[in-house]
Amino acid sequence: SNFNAATSRSANLASSGVLDAYNCFNSRAAPAPSSATTTASGPLSGCTISVKDNICTQDMPTTASSLMLKDYASSYDATVVSLLRSAGADIVGKTNCDEFGMGSDNVHSHFGPVINPAMGGREAEEQKRSAGGSSGGAAASVKAGYCRIAIGSDTGGSIRLPASYCGLWGLKPSYGLISRWGLISYADSLDTIGVLADNWSECQETFDVLSAPDKKDPTSAGEQVRSAADEVADEALSKFSSSSAPGTEGCLRGLRIGIPTTLFPSSLDAQVLPSFSRLLCHLEDHLGASIIPVELPSTGLALSAYYVIASAEASSNLARYDGVRYGFRSEEEKLPGEHPYAATRSTGFGEEVRKRILLGTHALSADAFDNTFLAAQRIRQTIKDEFDQVFRIPNVLHGRGAQTEQHAPSALSAGSQEGVDVLLHPSAVNTAPLLSALMPSSSTEEACPVGFSAPAGSAGLDEYVQDLLTVSSSLAGLPSVSMPLGRGAQDGWPIGMMATSQWGMEKVLGQLAEGLQ
Ligand code: GLN
Repeated sequence: SNFNAATSRSANLASSGVLDAYNCFNSRAAPAPSSATTTASGPLSGCTISVKDNICTQDMPTTASSLMLKDYASSYDATVVSLLRSAGADIVGKTNCDEFGMGSDNVHSHFGPVINPAMGGREAEEQKRSAGGSSGGAAASVKAGYCRIAIGSDTGGSIRLPASYCGLWGLKPSYGLISRWGLISYADSLDTIGVLADNWSECQETFDVLSAPDKKDPTSAGEQVRSAADEVADEALSKFSSSSAPGTEGCLRGLRIGIPTTLFPSSLDAQVLPSFSRLLCHLEDHLGASIIPVELPSTGLALSAYYVIASAEASSNLARYDGVRYGFRSEEEKLPGEHPYAATRSTGFGEEVRKRILLGTHALSADAFDNTFLAAQRIRQTIKDEFDQVFRIPNVLHGRGAQTEQHAPSALSAGSQEGVDVLLHPSAVNTAPLLSALMPSSSTEEACPVGFSAPAGSAGLDEYVQDLLTVSSSLAGLPSVSMPLGRGAQDGWPIGMMATSQWGMEKVLGQLAEGLQ
């Protein structure tokens, strides 16, 4: 076969603790797929990039870290992979992740957990921490220095949470800007492909290569809406363009930064706030930005709505793994009367995935549909509307300026009828959690993402609560970046903060990022 997980490169890495970040290394002997044209002069020429293992590659297996797809080899490259190859990137391997992207700590992988390398990865066994999930391998691959850039996917925080835990930059772009063709679907209406790197410029350069219309993805944004967004972004930037160089006194004068009070939950780690307040002072006093408290009342319901919608879509998407056409097939002795389909799915999927399928199937059943799935969709719409109301930048998906006509100015952006350009809040409620507290065997059985019936403090429930701050922008399809905010004063582990802007406003996020970099 053309691909082989064991290469001499991987052997060297075994001792450095990087192996758990990768499911497969690119064998240099493998010929480049004939369909790909690798240009030595492309914008990513010679740049080492890892690709999350739920994104199809022709020259390496694509497993989504599931037994179900353990030996699956795609016959084609995902659109993003073709774009990377054409831009001259050196794809080094496929990174470990939570099975089908379902998880927040990369502990639900058929290939085992990913160890967070932010402190060298050489801590005592019981001190090792999670790299975050589901793109934990992606974050670890960059942090451990094995590649410059990682391509991950983010459905409800899977790029931003690992970036925060590992002290990296992680960009989840606006929904529809980067093609999902060749991404193994988790929840189509939320799935995005994005970038993790050590600095903003590399995120931005990679985003520029990958952001393109794609006929193969029906949800890919077309040329028209892209140029409308570009126009709106330029107009927005002109309001806070400054003659000062990025990072210098007054460089963000005119930028209006909203602080969503609802995204500072009581569960927030005490280490996070001091760093965040210092940053706000810096933004206001030195860089000249305005800090404005805003309210997004419905974001408090986002986590429940997210888990209903994501699980419902997942239950439908995962129906295709039936062991008949491709993928794993259980050869176990069937119980009398048991269908091979049931045996295949109960063995091929891990516990977390089966939990989501059950939850999603329930949410879509006739009895539960109105009170769960429809209710969650209504919350999603309300959250979108609230974002549109707090931003002064119009949402081009509704036609330019449409939302200002539809919604009367409300008390949402209290203190400012004018609205804000970006929202800023912590990326996560805590620093990276200890792996020992997270491994599936130690989590409680009662853990359930909806209804919060599990006893407070159970490890299983904690996992879902980690997504508290990331899911709102996913539900609204907005661009969102997690940026490193130093290290916790108590434990010394990385802290992240998250900036979100209006749909298509990656450039606005860039302006803030460059000011802070
Ligand atoms: N932790 C969230 C979940 O399990 C988000 C995962 C993701 O973004 N892929 O659904």
